[in-house]
Amino acid sequence: MQPRLRAVPPKVFALVSVLAAAALVAAAAPAPELPPPAAATFTPDKPLSERVVAYQIEARLDTEKKTLEATEVLTYRNRTGRPLDLFPFHLYLNAFQPQSTFMREVRQGSPDFQWKEKYRGSIEVTRLEVVGQGDLTGKMEFIQPDDGNPDDRTVFQVRLPRPVPPGAEVQFKIAFRAQLPEVLARTGTKRNFFLVGQWFPKVGVWWRGAWNCHQFHRNTEFFADFGTYDVKVTLPQGTVVGATGVEVSRQPNPDGTQTLTFRAEDVHDFAWTADPNFRVVEDSFAGGLGPVKIRLLMQPGHLSQAPRYLQALQGTLRLYDRWFGPYPYTQITVVDPPHGGFGAGGMEYPMFITGGTTWWMPAGLLFPELATEHEFGHQYWYGMVATNEFEDAWLDEGINAYVETKVMAELYGEETSAVNLWGMTASDTRVSRLQYRAVPDTDPMTRSAYEFMSGGAYGTVTYAKTATVLHTLEGLVGEETLRRALQTYFQRYRFTHPTEEDFLRTVEEVSGQDLGWFFDQAVRGTHVLDYQVRLLRSDRADWHEENPPEEKKGETLFRSVVVVHRKGDFIFPVEVEVKFDNGETVRERWDGRDRWVRFRYEKKARVVSAEIDPDHKVWLDTNLFNDSRTRESNRRATRKLAQYWLFLTQFLAQWLAWLA
Ligand SMILES: [Zn+2]
Repeated sequence: MQPRLRAVPPKVFALVSVLAAAALVAAAAPAPELPPPAAATFTPDKPLSERVVAYQIEARLDTEKKTLEATEVLTYRNRTGRPLDLFPFHLYLNAFQPQSTFMREVRQGSPDFQWKEKYRGSIEVTRLEVVGQGDLTGKMEFIQPDDGNPDDRTVFQVRLPRPVPPGAEVQFKIAFRAQLPEVLARTGTKRNFFLVGQWFPKVGVWWRGAWNCHQFHRNTEFFADFGTYDVKVTLPQGTVVGATGVEVSRQPNPDGTQTLTFRAEDVHDFAWTADPNFRVVEDSFAGGLGPVKIRLLMQPGHLSQAPRYLQALQGTLRLYDRWFGPYPYTQITVVDPPHGGFGAGGMEYPMFITGGTTWWMPAGLLFPELATEHEFGHQYWYGMVATNEFEDAWLDEGINAYVETKVMAELYGEETSAVNLWGMTASDTRVSRLQYRAVPDTDPMTRSAYEFMSGGAYGTVTYAKTATVLHTLEGLVGEETLRRALQTYFQRYRFTHPTEEDFLRTVEEVSGQDLGWFFDQAVRGTHVLDYQVRLLRSDRADWHEENPPEEKKGETLFRSVVVVHRKGDFIFPVEVEVKFDNGETVRERWDGRDRWVRFRYEKKARVVSAEIDPDHKVWLDTNLFNDSRTRESNRRATRKLAQYWLFLTQFLAQWLAWLA
């Protein structure tokens, strides 16, 4: 369901990718010119995170040329326990160049994609000084740790003349200028709209005993250390600005510009947006740790849909607060990108997300709601539980996709959580399963995101398969237990960089079950789960008699056989429900280790049907049509209906993609 016109896989991979919304009426007012600054209420007594980094950035945006001139002071605290003399930095905006690894991957995944100069972005460090060690601008060198592409300039490293001792701080003073691309993915401009993400030199993460600083890729994104951000942005007056963190001051300048200052604490990235057309809609949520200010920046033509964003966000905040723990920041900003700025939609940054809609979006297509839920969910799975998205993308995208299905079902109904239009309904959970079925066996979930067979395989496995795996796990350990495991995982690892082992161990610990056999196949393997009822038969026990008496219900003895076949290589214990024509039902359990099993019965009744997984807990089964068999089968009708339905939803998604 990847839209054809898009060069880059949508951040929200499901139906959601497609776009954004319509309906209802909003009570919103245009942003007043230079209101008094909001109070800086964001200083917890004890920092939430270890605060490895502190960034102070001053940037001036030229809205005509779409360029930035900036200075950055980065204070890095060496908490690695060893002396450090080598520091890698991301320069992500250089990805938007025809020879970059990102652009090669885009072209590879979308051979129709045409390069245009408007897509060019760049960032150049004009000076790099290390306090006490002098000007090291000449010592910077580009490196390509992932693919050796010498034309990729998205990572550089610099070696210091003297190492930084463990426990000490080092300060980098950097000057840089940047050209923002027309938005293609995650960052950029569209007319007067600016989404400024991935825009400053950002140091890598010392993780598991080494630097981790990947190049910018098509499929995957970010990994950075927690800390504080003090960011000053200078741009024309009359422009509405939103950002990670909270606004602490706003100054008009004599030259017609204004300077806004933002402060963010215990986050690992900083993004901002600017557009003179934004209409500001404000609301608040009464969270477990106090009020959370909601700031919605709407396109004027989408204003009537503000209530849809707000309802989804409020509901998501409430359920996350209840299920996993409170949202600890005082603000969340939601950005509604303009028409044609679709690449800016469905993105997550700390305390700052982008949604997406269109003026005509019918209420029964829940794209804006799905995008809002999904991107807010990333505040937990990425924002706070800051896993390595390059290497373990399933831990944020996949866990987030699973929770998305749970939240959407709770808020909008189990069977209507994605589409509820013109008598058609679609559940977010089922949509995930259908997507997973398309590419179930190419790559393990644990593969580094930039090494998947294709963008489609990455999206399918990381989002849809993970959601489906977690739904199946829910069937194994129970919904409540899995929720408790996620809560424990969140509370234990928030503001750190856990690994997949940390997650899997937590699930085993909370459930009290040894789940290695499941994780080996579902998470680390590419096993395909498919069970079928192969045979269903009843024979009269007296079949050999020359003149058998007439068959009499309740008196004639039958020998019945049910054969269940494990067609895939995924071994999973299943239940089989066998029904007889006297109303009797038998539940069998099979460990699935052999390729097939035969159940025999001798009863004064014929077998009527057999169904694998009668409680519908094994979401990973790739073919549900062969899961049951009835003596007088009505399977054909069911199948036809299901395929018609699948066609309709896919058609709808494609259609929306073209219009977007
Ligand atoms: Zn996501």
